[in-house]
Amino acid sequence: LAADGTFKHLGLVGCGLIGSSILRAVREGALVERTSVFDRDGNVCAYVQAEGLADAAATDPGVLAGADLVLLCVPVGAMGPAAASIAEELQPGAVVSDVGSVKASVIEDVSPHLPGGVAFIPAHPIAGTEHSGPAAGFAGLFQGRWVILCPPGATAMDEAAAARVEALWHAMGAQCARMSAAHHDQILGITSHLPHLIAYTIVGTATDLGDDLKAEIFRYSAGGFRDFTRLAASDPIMWRDVFLNNREAVLELLQRFSEDLSALQKAIRRGEADTLERYFEKTRTVRRGVIDAQQER
Ligand code: NAP
Repeated sequence: LAADGTFKHLGLVGCGLIGSSILRAVREGALVERTSVFDRDGNVCAYVQAEGLADAAATDPGVLAGADLVLLCVPVGAMGPAAASIAEELQPGAVVSDVGSVKASVIEDVSPHLPGGVAFIPAHPIAGTEHSGPAAGFAGLFQGRWVILCPPGATAMDEAAAARVEALWHAMGAQCARMSAAHHDQILGITSHLPHLIAYTIVGTATDLGDDLKAEIFRYSAGGFRDFTRLAASDPIMWRDVFLNNREAVLELLQRFSEDLSALQKAIRRGEADTLERYFEKTRTVRRGVIDAQQER
């Protein structure tokens, strides 16, 4: 542990879009002394070494030995197995954190594998793109974005570890907030998970319309469809895991969404102009809130 509480040796499990963006931001700001990557994909390790993204990269978790911070940057469904595979490398006093898009299931899956004396600080950077893999990452990904931390414990060790993790995210340009894992999963259900599900559905419905219509769907997509295609191009494994691991919150929101959709369907069928106009006036104001929160780009 450095005197100022910063981490010396950052270890990463999984080096895709998020992991490689962290490495680039850390390298740019010279935020730690050493970085190591464990990824099960040998091609990813070769890329990391060729690009000089980390000091060491290997398909063996032993490469993480001596790390005082290990960030789990694998899909949510792989967090438990990833934690199990690195448990032996964790020294007392080390901190483990993650970047998973769901928090309650990750806490449940990871915690049992961590040895005593190791603090776990679950976190989620609300930043990303529809691309995946290490070549898609960039140093500025977290600039101006929020990172939500959900520390499950409240001991002095947990508090000190959470403060150190927050300091690292701040140094990468992010702002931090803390909340319970259940609250995180509910909020992200509406801001991220449901919108992705709707996008996957709209794009799926459109592409099932038939080959003869496809060329026209692409050509005239600027009418709105193209904005959904960006979300629906997101990584299939990552999103499969998000829906399987935030099942209850997503199903609850989907129920409410279906009821609202049915109400609009009824208004259209009955020609209720006022109902439609009032609804769209109300939703229009939401855009202003997003712009005011500086999260529109
Ligand atoms: P990604 O680009 O798909 O990269 C994940 C990497 O982890 C891949 O190289 C993968 O190898 C490797 N991996 C998978 N299981 C492993 C294991 N058990 N041990 C070692 N390596 C393993 O993923 P990403 O987009 O960076 O997402 C990573 C995490 O960040 C996810 O939990 C996601 O929910 C979260 N997140 C993503 C975004 C976003 O917009 N993408 C935003 C915020 C948070 P294989 O290719 O062999 O599977």
